[in-house]
Amino acid sequence: MDEWGPVVETIKTIHKIGDDEITIVLSPCCFRLTYGEEVYVFDLEGRPVFMYFDRQLYERGLSGEIVAKKWISVTPPRRHLVRIMDRDVKERILRHSFERVRWMLEETGFDHPDPVVKRVYRGDIQRLWMEESVFRRIYRPISILPPDQYLSLVFQPLEGCPYNKCSFCTFYRDREFRFKGLEEFRRHVEEVVNFLGRGISMRHRIFLADANTLFADTRLLRSYIETVLDYIPRHDIEGFYSFSDYFTVYKTEEELGMLRNLGYKRVYIGLETGDPEVLRILSKPGPPERSVNLVKRLKAAGINVGVIILIGAGGREYYRQHVENTVKILNSMPLDRRDIIYFSKLKVREGSEYQRIAEEMGLTSLSDEEMDRQIEEIKQGLRHVEPPIQAIYDIDETIY
Ligand code: SF4
Repeated sequence: MDEWGPVVETIKTIHKIGDDEITIVLSPCCFRLTYGEEVYVFDLEGRPVFMYFDRQLYERGLSGEIVAKKWISVTPPRRHLVRIMDRDVKERILRHSFERVRWMLEETGFDHPDPVVKRVYRGDIQRLWMEESVFRRIYRPISILPPDQYLSLVFQPLEGCPYNKCSFCTFYRDREFRFKGLEEFRRHVEEVVNFLGRGISMRHRIFLADANTLFADTRLLRSYIETVLDYIPRHDIEGFYSFSDYFTVYKTEEELGMLRNLGYKRVYIGLETGDPEVLRILSKPGPPERSVNLVKRLKAAGINVGVIILIGAGGREYYRQHVENTVKILNSMPLDRRDIIYFSKLKVREGSEYQRIAEEMGLTSLSDEEMDRQIEEIKQGLRHVEPPIQAIYDIDETIY
């Protein structure tokens, strides 16, 4: 880690080359270089975070994973997505990016004593490989995050899912559910903060993983949050966020109010469907109305929600009742413009319990077009006075 403080003011250089220009911005959050359509963004430790060249966006997580994205159609929204695991391919992307950035720095003569500039100029790929193994030591795999949390700082006070039986979900089958003890959690926070170094300045949201952090006893949860606050000043944090299920969690409005006062901003709830029969196919406990009670209590306490709907659940055979009952449940939630409804298209994993149940029941999967139509039909049925944000949640995009 560099012993260099935060960048206090933004420095911007624009350098003309013919009709194009190179723009270099060193800001309190990151180091960004652009030339024509090319964009390269690094955190203040010099880790590549976004790279855009040859009409392809590459997002790189702290884990070292790279996700390549390319828009192939805007309406309907279609992206071609590849998760790049192969080290040689990753190396080619990183090498190309560092070469382009080096050229931009030389061309503009950009000079600044901040160590991130030298580090990016050097483009030390060996260091990035080394960081991948550090990451694997301090984290269990971050299997899934809500799409608005990819740039959060994630801590894992809990590991796994206390339920872990939903037929379609394989995120946490590799681990036993457990709480970290407070001392262990303090060490984890310390390690994560050291690992991030100055790169922390890019991440203002704190996501408490894994699957169901609200399951923790409120006093324990409070201690987890206070531990994080011992290492990161409150004013640097936009808020705390986590997943919750709606069937094991019961917290009073007072408890939730206390969490809100500690900085809790949004809880993401996997409702999946408002239809009790589809819920049974998903092996998820009902009734779905329990999710309404939880959302009401959260909203009354001043905590916003993200509600996740599983598009295609139950296949063609349950299409209609999935739409109608999901609309009914969503409309009975006091959602507003600070909340999000996420539409996540069902991806049936090979060998999953859902696949077995679907085969047994003779369920027919929806095509992509049918899923788009199902999303539209649910959207059409929503009647909130201040409509919540509505967005696609592609689980394959998760990157951290
Ligand atoms: S969907 Fe949520 S509650 Fe169900 S097993 Fe997966 S993480 Fe657990």
